[in-house]
Amino acid sequence: MTLTACPLFINGEWATPKIAATPVYNPSTGEVIAECPAGGVDEVNAAVEAAHAAFPGWRDTPPVERARVFFKYRQLVEQNFDLLCRTVSREHGKTHAEARGSIFRGLENIEYACGIPTLLFGDSLKNIARGVDCETINLPVGVCVGITPFNFPAMVPLWMYPLALACGNTFILKPSEKVPLTAVLLGQLLEQAGIPKGVFNIVHGGRPVVDALLTHPKVRAISFVGSTPIAKHIWETGTKHGKRVQANGGAKNYIVVMPDADVGKTVENLATAAFGCAGERCMAGSTALTVGAAAERILPDLVKAAKAIRVGPTDRAAQPDMGPVITAAHRDRVLGLLAAGEKEGAKVIADGRSVKVADAPKGFYLGATVVDGVQDNMTLAREEVFGPVLNVMRMDDLDAAIEQAGKSAFGNGAAIFTNSGRAAREFTMRVKAGMVGVNVGVPATMAMFPFTGWDDSFYGDLHLQGKEAVQFYTQQKVISTRWFGGDVGDVWKK
Ligand code: NAD
Repeated sequence: MTLTACPLFINGEWATPKIAATPVYNPSTGEVIAECPAGGVDEVNAAVEAAHAAFPGWRDTPPVERARVFFKYRQLVEQNFDLLCRTVSREHGKTHAEARGSIFRGLENIEYACGIPTLLFGDSLKNIARGVDCETINLPVGVCVGITPFNFPAMVPLWMYPLALACGNTFILKPSEKVPLTAVLLGQLLEQAGIPKGVFNIVHGGRPVVDALLTHPKVRAISFVGSTPIAKHIWETGTKHGKRVQANGGAKNYIVVMPDADVGKTVENLATAAFGCAGERCMAGSTALTVGAAAERILPDLVKAAKAIRVGPTDRAAQPDMGPVITAAHRDRVLGLLAAGEKEGAKVIADGRSVKVADAPKGFYLGATVVDGVQDNMTLAREEVFGPVLNVMRMDDLDAAIEQAGKSAFGNGAAIFTNSGRAAREFTMRVKAGMVGVNVGVPATMAMFPFTGWDDSFYGDLHLQGKEAVQFYTQQKVISTRWFGGDVGDVWKK
């Protein structure tokens, strides 16, 4: 089959350099559909120089004019919605419905960026001392970089560059080498929207490219989303080289089910939280902490729900309930974690390991799997699985559940299913996680709220999205002004 082109975008030019490349798979079929150029230091230098040269012109473009580019971009993303969905499904394996949902979330970030003129408002205070006025202004920082993971090929890049650019920065996107095609398409649409040359650039590759970006003296800010070890490396290396860094890491999210929870709604939400996007979500509800009688109430229906999930290819008209995982290696890693769990005494009560997909036998499939009796000391309880696996840990009471969630090194999301306002209030206040749901299984925040991971789920000070991200992508200047002549401090009396 013909491979899809996967060019770099530097200074307004699309080019595919003749350098080593890594295969991009269609996980539904196991076929190689493109080759992602594993760019090098030369490409990084060219992109940073282009972004640096374009910065003054873009910085000085009035915010209303920058916003207009994003109004246009919004329209183009909407017009190309189906193409974007198909591209995400093809290179990532999300179902069309999941791809649509994720691109909507990205679109909301473009919409948020369209409000940049008001988001950039500063503060001012007249007569801060006699005859002296004071104001803050919010200025862009310069060349910004975004390094993104495989699991949301459109949404996560869209968390970053629309707002960074709307703030007046220039940007270099380094998408995951596993899903570069959606990023290329998003870049083509931004070019059509009228982004000036050099303001937005795309480079591809792995560690050498990332390290060249992290250490380049002209890069001022780095946004990263990916696994915890790499997030830590990005934060340590970037800050050591004088850059501001926001680095989102991995996660392990707990869903507490109280004995009074609505069985039908809880099962439906748990299944979606655990198995949606084949579990490849940093906000996946990957562990159910059942309190007291909750386990006996929900497990029979949960097992039925898991077994009913139809797994299959997402690159054709007839859609399954759940698609494949990203690579064969990733599937094997999840299988390894399940084997370790069983060896350590956990019990697989819905087993998706031997799922067969007749019309796509080489795809990277795993069925929905539920593991009961997971204990705190097991590998399954500690490591992020990032597959369609729901662990069940049985707790005596709410205190024990909150304590269990607090033991995790991560701190991304947590949720409770209950009919008790008292239990919900206690949980939301005490649980150790940055995003908390009450009868909401995946409390991932929308564009106007920050994506507030804690602990090993986030390194940095200011999170992605919302006002925190505006602060991250701007630097404040405070201007104190005094004009001589006349009496100071009481001009209104004249
Ligand atoms: P990853 O860490 O392997 O890769 C992320 C990015 O880092 C990619 O662009 C990759 O090319 C680059 N990279 C990989 N290895 C590198 C290295 N050694 N040095 C420098 N750069 C390197 O993550 P992934 O597998 O693509 O994505 C899945 C992970 O992302 C999961 O852990 C998931 O929880 C996490 N994630 C977190 C959030 C969040 O907001 N907290 C959101 C989405 C995904």
